[in-house]
Amino acid sequence: FFRSLEKQGIYLNEQQIHAVRHFKGPLLTLAGAGSGKTSVLVCRTGYLITVRNINPKNILLVTFSKKAAEEMRDRIAHLPGMDENIAAIIQTRTFHSFFLKIIRKHGVTQDILSETRYQHIVLKRILREMGLQDEYQPETLLSLLSSYKMQMVNVDSLPETTDEEKELKQIFDAYEKWKTANNKIDFDDVLLFAYNMLRQKPSLLAALQKRFLYVMVDEFQDTNMVQYELIKMITEPHRNLMIVGDDDQTIYSFNGARNEFILNFDKLYPDAKTITLDINYRSASSIVGLGNEVIRHNKRRKKKTLKAKRQNQTQPQYIRPKNTDDEAEIITKYILRQVKQGKRSFGDFAILYRTASNSRAIIEQFVIDDVPFVDYGSEESFYGHWLVKPLVDHIRLALHPQDFEAMEGILPTLYINREQGMEFILDQEKVQKKKWPLIHLMSYPDIKDFQKEKLMERLKLIKSLKSMKPVDAIQLMRREFYDQFLETNKRNKLTHHKEIMRETLDELESSAKRFSSIEEFVSFIAEVAEKRKAMDHSQHENDDRVSLMTIHKSKGLEFPVVCLIGASEGNMPHNSIFDAEKMSDVFTTHAGRDKITAAMEEERRLVYVAVTRAKDDLVISSPAYHRGKKAAVSRYIMDAFPKRSANDTGNRQPGASKSYSSQRTQTDTVYAWICTSGKCTAWQRIKTYEEAELPTRECPLCKSPMEKGSKEITFLSH
Ligand code: ATP
Ligand code: MG
Repeated sequence: FFRSLEKQGIYLNEQQIHAVRHFKGPLLTLAGAGSGKTSVLVCRTGYLITVRNINPKNILLVTFSKKAAEEMRDRIAHLPGMDENIAAIIQTRTFHSFFLKIIRKHGVTQDILSETRYQHIVLKRILREMGLQDEYQPETLLSLLSSYKMQMVNVDSLPETTDEEKELKQIFDAYEKWKTANNKIDFDDVLLFAYNMLRQKPSLLAALQKRFLYVMVDEFQDTNMVQYELIKMITEPHRNLMIVGDDDQTIYSFNGARNEFILNFDKLYPDAKTITLDINYRSASSIVGLGNEVIRHNKRRKKKTLKAKRQNQTQPQYIRPKNTDDEAEIITKYILRQVKQGKRSFGDFAILYRTASNSRAIIEQFVIDDVPFVDYGSEESFYGHWLVKPLVDHIRLALHPQDFEAMEGILPTLYINREQGMEFILDQEKVQKKKWPLIHLMSYPDIKDFQKEKLMERLKLIKSLKSMKPVDAIQLMRREFYDQFLETNKRNKLTHHKEIMRETLDELESSAKRFSSIEEFVSFIAEVAEKRKAMDHSQHENDDRVSLMTIHKSKGLEFPVVCLIGASEGNMPHNSIFDAEKMSDVFTTHAGRDKITAAMEEERRLVYVAVTRAKDDLVISSPAYHRGKKAAVSRYIMDAFPKRSANDTGNRQPGASKSYSSQRTQTDTVYAWICTSGKCTAWQRIKTYEEAELPTRECPLCKSPMEKGSKEITFLSH
């Protein structure tokens, strides 16, 4: 088997072979990014079948995302002695899809609330009935509820000491009751239902235990308690459980993921064999080095340092654009140049970012420059976001009062209820010809006085937008519609999502600033929507396109070139985590301080995951302004630099340059190649001043010559 693998060009190292040949009992592989954990699972599957004659039916491979599962299946099919038919028999699944199939087969018929927007609607209605619509955000509530459920905390057993706890419990309770009454379940319920089912039906559990004799789980660091318990139950009798993962890549703890399952696996399974992999096969050596430097500053981790297999000299590139629009332009030009020169194709590039709204500027630049892309982030565009769309619809109406779709979009903001809204929509033909069809609402018999008042005010506002600059129009509406909720509401302690909301609105303002008239702005938004639609079909899956995704979505994947954007303070770490402190008295026992430390470590892990996705080239971009404010380079990137004081002459021995000071000075100097064009801000770090012989002295971004010099990095005090 191994010889045939070698014929295919796959030379496993000794440790990997050891793991692949593992046959019975629990096995743990806790190893860094790109060290071949997923590859080992794939090869072991082939080994079990072709060498150990295990029936493919008896193997269960669990992974984190649909995309990862598909990739694994594909890789298995190409192993020696395997084909697509055999690969199709092996259960290669996500937790969700595997257990959904089981509960479906055994009598669970409820519809699944698969789209979060339906969950939002339900929660909004509950909040309105309780008079709490201005106090809580559906988004926040859902993620809180989800993390409780995934830790198997029942809604009934939530504490009700403070008023807020009581309120939250009531909301969650109403939500759960609504689902039962309406014959629905949500995403999290799938796993909980499966768990309860397996406990209540010993015969079903026994059948699963008998069928799945070899179980392997990838990305085990992000399993939550329900997932852990489910796997434990299924493997109980035979304990043929192989898990792989990397505690440094735990990035879903906000969703209840608990890396202690992987860190304590040897205690949970004292007979577990442990195999360590420490060679990174994925990335160029400089990238592996950067990953090591980024992550080693975390305290709560199992220490491990990766060695690089692929020695080469290209260094990660750091750019410091003025702002996100500037960043989008520089990165787009870079991609286009590489493609034009035949060095790369679009599909080689991935753009990774911290939050979905970070992608707004780059998507717009791609649209302007006709760069094909696929957005793995969200189905809807930035302008379709529930906070953004109503504002855009108001502007559309200012330009075209008869735009019925825009009218529909703003109805909820006018306190028009569903029935009244329906009536209006059904009247479309009758009213659309009028100059201001919205006025027609006034004549409806059940429209209340306060609704009429609101409507008149709103019409005035819409008319006033027409002569405004786009950014002024957005700011006006933002004040009008959101400021009260976002800024003045003191009761809302669940502020995490407020920061994300503010960020989204700031992003909309930045976008609007680029246009001088609302006509231009609206037609640009329409163009973006059209392009997205054209590109969003899954049949384009294999097209040659730049991949865009949040770091969270990039887990387990790899790309020849990774551009990590928005690597500035405020975004990495993301401001929203500092609000966590305010949550410390809500259902928590840990002190707020501790939560922040934990959150900061998770933010660092995100940067680690991002940089370790790159195979050959890595561009890290840290805009000097983030959301209108001056922003330093992300501390996680800075931590990876050897620090020297400004008066250092550079005459150090190479090894001595690794003197890391824990004290943060106001400015620090690193030695670098610096682009001389004056316009481009690219620079490449030189680890030691002596390490001068880089393969190119041409700016990778603008192709101007580069000069050796020192680069000053200013820290903003936090
Ligand atoms: P992550 O932590 O990011 O999930 P991983 O540990 O699962 O990473 P893999 O994705 O399995 O790592 O492997 C990373 C890359 O290294 C892949 O492109 C894989 O094909 C390659 N690789 C793994 N092992 C070897 C090997 N022995 N020889 C050559 N290439 C290898
Ligand atoms: Mg992997």
